[in-house]
Amino acid sequence: MSEPRTAEIFAIGNELLLGIVQDTNTHWLCRQIAGLGGRVRRATLLPDDPSLVGAELRRALERGPDLLVTTGGLGPTPDDRTLEAIAQALGVPLEESGEALQIVERRYRELFEQGRVDSPELTDARRKMARLPKGARALDNRVGTAPGVLLRRGRTTVVALPGVPSEMRAIWAHALPPHLERIFGQGFYLERTLVVAVNDESLLAPILREHQSAWPQVYIKSRPQSFAEGFKILITLAMSGERSAVEATLARAVHGLRERLRREGLPVEESHARDGGTV
Ligand code: ATP
Repeated sequence: MSEPRTAEIFAIGNELLLGIVQDTNTHWLCRQIAGLGGRVRRATLLPDDPSLVGAELRRALERGPDLLVTTGGLGPTPDDRTLEAIAQALGVPLEESGEALQIVERRYRELFEQGRVDSPELTDARRKMARLPKGARALDNRVGTAPGVLLRRGRTTVVALPGVPSEMRAIWAHALPPHLERIFGQGFYLERTLVVAVNDESLLAPILREHQSAWPQVYIKSRPQSFAEGFKILITLAMSGERSAVEATLARAVHGLRERLRREGLPVEESHARDGGTV
């Protein structure tokens, strides 16, 4: 089986580090990437500081993930400096992109026609969003105004998305699929969660340890959760790879665990399945 494709995520914004806004974008991106069969190796929270972000980007590019996604800092205000950081890290200038300018122009025209902005005019602040690192492609933003950005460096595809969650998700869902398919190919992810009515997680520890060594390809994680009837333990088994192998292996691993728990007097009450992305 081929190695899973790897990814890194940078969530950028002072407001995230001040705790004013909770970083939900990283969680969403982790779910998407895992759902495509990819493996997020690292996720980093960074301030709006282009030198620092640039340095972190350079380190990430040395590690060479297949996909490097940033969110935040693409807007029209002076503190939105993610593209400057990317340009710095790649050693290329920022230059106005015709493709990006068309998107910004169209979006302001549409917002003006909907009565959501006072003018469709391309001011300097608006034009700023069309200044991309040289060689980058613009990704259409159907929700907001800042285009997403895509460029390639070595094995890594760098994708910069806006911080506003609905914009980030819209670009991911509408503009990125062909690129994601190129990166993740036929990658597949499957997850099964078993609910066990036991309030002491330590009782499960030896069973799960044994099961994990029997099924090294499967990620196994238990976690307590509160229900109306009291605490129960959720056990998630997850695997990514080639679809038929994943389905067969996970089915056997889940069956084996269910049987073992039953023998220990810890029957599984219910189970949930999830596969693929959640866009
Ligand atoms: P815009 O085009 O709207 O300016 P942007 O890329 O500049 O987009 P930011 O200014 O960085 O986005 O963030 C805008 C808002 O989006 C933040 O104030 C916050 O409410 C939300 N946001 C930013 N980053 C995240 C994140 N990682 N998770 C959740 N929400 C976020």
